[in-house]
Amino acid sequence: MFDKFNRKINYLRISVTDRCNLRCVYCMPEEGVELLDHKEILTFDEIVDLTKAAIRKGVEKVRITGGEPLVRNGIIDLVKMIGEIDGIKDYSMTTNAIRLDKFADDLAKAGLQRVNISLDTMNPEKFKQITRGGDIQKVFDGIRAAKKAGLEPIKINCVIKDDNQEPDAVEVAKYCKENGLHIRYIKEMDLEKGEFSIVDGGTGGDCGTCNRLRLTANGNIKPCLFSDISYNVRELGAERAIDLAIGNKPETGHTNLTGKFYNIGG
Ligand code: SAM
Ligand code: SF4
Repeated sequence: MFDKFNRKINYLRISVTDRCNLRCVYCMPEEGVELLDHKEILTFDEIVDLTKAAIRKGVEKVRITGGEPLVRNGIIDLVKMIGEIDGIKDYSMTTNAIRLDKFADDLAKAGLQRVNISLDTMNPEKFKQITRGGDIQKVFDGIRAAKKAGLEPIKINCVIKDDNQEPDAVEVAKYCKENGLHIRYIKEMDLEKGEFSIVDGGTGGDCGTCNRLRLTANGNIKPCLFSDISYNVRELGAERAIDLAIGNKPETGHTNLTGKFYNIGG
């Protein structure tokens, strides 16, 4: 389906949880995170119904994200249920990879094609600081497992402050080159201030070519990360919520005062 600005909307990002096993400084507060009540979170059947409706309207690319998708109970079953829907040409997941070592094989068997993994530094101490406690070795184990399982091409999301020549980004780029991984630099964004820019090496942040819809874990379809507009699937039904989101997708993003990366889905 095309929106008012003639953009072909063919990409759905599904946030399956607002929970996370890390607390990255640019994404989540250290404590006092207001989490969704379990009954607010969409069931697997609701997510599958919405995905089917989106595919009927032209979606061909689906990404599972969060929060951290690998902390949602039964995630392999959900990945399989979505993977069995006809019409998905590109099926991926964004993960922090902390639990990927354990899950990579089953994800691949469940039909997932590839993964994007977040990694901003090669320094274990710095990783611990950025993620407030994460163990970088688990990420490396996860990457190795993803390669072995064939979840490729593997893209590394590297958040930068200013540019891709920062020492941490240069080291991550070197690691990627040595290990056959693709790097995408994402400049740190501020949803409230409306600070965002084009993802270097990726497709995000370019309003003129934006092809995305987002589904939050509690069933809101959002046509733009940098806008508060959303349509609730439980209130409106999947078809109508999708039509409204596409019909009212803003020409460009501005600010988002009601959500954060971890609960909208980055
Ligand atoms: N937990 C998973 C992960 O970290 O890969 C998936 C969800 S996370 C919200 C998705 C992506 O959003 C990550 O690559 C993360 O680095 C990015 N992200 C989170 N907060 C950000 C911010 N303020 N600016 C830019 N990117 C951000
Ligand atoms: Fe969790 Fe991903 Fe946000 Fe980090 S960026 S706190 S791993 S959701």
